[in-house]
Amino acid sequence: MNNKHILSRIVLAFSLLSFLFLLVLPSVTSNAAPRLQKTGNPIIIVIDPGHGGEENTGTTECGFVEKDMNLLTAKVMAEELSKYDGVKVYLTRDGDYDLTLKKRAQIASEYHADFLISLHYNASESHLLYGSETWVSLNPDYHNQGYQLGTAFLREFREMGLTLRGIKTRRHSKGSDYYGILRESVALGVPAIIVEHCHVDHARDNVFCDSEEELIAFGEADARAVAKYFGLKSASLGIDYSEEANRLPEVTVGALVPRAAQDLTNPEYCHVALLDAKYEEDLVTVQVSAKDSDSNLLYYAYSLDGGVTYTETIPWPEGDILTGEFSGTFTLELTIPDGTTPQICFRAVNPYDLDTASNMLVFDKVFQKPVQEESQEQEYEDATGKLAPEAESPDKDSELYDTIYLILKLGIAIAGTLFVVFLIAFLAKAAKTKKESQGEGNTKQK
Ligand SMILES: [Zn+2]
Repeated sequence: MNNKHILSRIVLAFSLLSFLFLLVLPSVTSNAAPRLQKTGNPIIIVIDPGHGGEENTGTTECGFVEKDMNLLTAKVMAEELSKYDGVKVYLTRDGDYDLTLKKRAQIASEYHADFLISLHYNASESHLLYGSETWVSLNPDYHNQGYQLGTAFLREFREMGLTLRGIKTRRHSKGSDYYGILRESVALGVPAIIVEHCHVDHARDNVFCDSEEELIAFGEADARAVAKYFGLKSASLGIDYSEEANRLPEVTVGALVPRAAQDLTNPEYCHVALLDAKYEEDLVTVQVSAKDSDSNLLYYAYSLDGGVTYTETIPWPEGDILTGEFSGTFTLELTIPDGTTPQICFRAVNPYDLDTASNMLVFDKVFQKPVQEESQEQEYEDATGKLAPEAESPDKDSELYDTIYLILKLGIAIAGTLFVVFLIAFLAKAAKTKKESQGEGNTKQK
């Protein structure tokens, strides 16, 4: 065996080792990329309080008046953002009047805005949705900037305790952006984003927006998001966010971020499997699996009466909509109303509110506690369908799975390394033996 052969074997072994190394590396999307958008000095921000005037009130669900909420939050955001150095802030409207979307975009364009930020509060027809979302342009020249800024906003809202619905896009039937403010802005060369802080018509969300203090807190969070995205500093506040502008998600120039693409299809499947049934304790443990290749899973809900009534939508556990990582499977302990024979099924919901129902778990026995053990507290929990005791279950299981997964990964890595070490040693020995035998041959020839 000559040196060339040994070298090629070593290269082969090294490639194998690299492959094994890649195998054990977790597939994490980079969230430490620099801001893509180039800016001049000062940075110019135009804040657009959505809606306004008599006709265009925005949502008025549950006694909220969106146009006023948007204006208050926008004014706070402008004031807070103005405390940073090297930034100029303007509003599209500072009172209760309406402007066309085109006019709002024109104002931003006339100020040479680096970003037009349109602030809103949300409501859904079904009243089942909750959480924060941002809408960004599909235009490849503006999409990436919107995606990075949208991430900065959602990070702030997550800090506040809100559920995240993602950084999203929606296509108009004519092919461009569905939302007019994005369409009109990018047509004038202004990057734009729509920020939907939360849903006023859902109990999980309206605690975040039902007082002036809450609307102010959103304005402050909005200012922080923009300050972090642009890496601003404030001498008066003693804040330096310059490193934050390097902590943004990695995006590619001219390409859409796949997980921001509009998902037009329901999750591929949702499946529920029975792990355990404790008939005398009114408890069932199930494993729920679902898949949506186009986007995350956002919520789930379940029914104990064969799909006639469902629980409220519950956040899909173990998911991170900002990185796209989420577990397709979780376990859950359900409390069954005493004296009933449940029919259990689940629904998995994606960020575009499309859902898929699971198979049905049927039981042939009644769940019944022995009479003396029945407690009032348990009855109360059954009646309200409280979920608190179940929350621990998926965490524990997932910790166990994580540990097993880690051990498996380590095992593969060690086995791979040992294999390569042995391979190199074997090759080296083989080469040595050959060299020696060649040496002997030479001696004989002499
Ligand atoms: Zn609105």
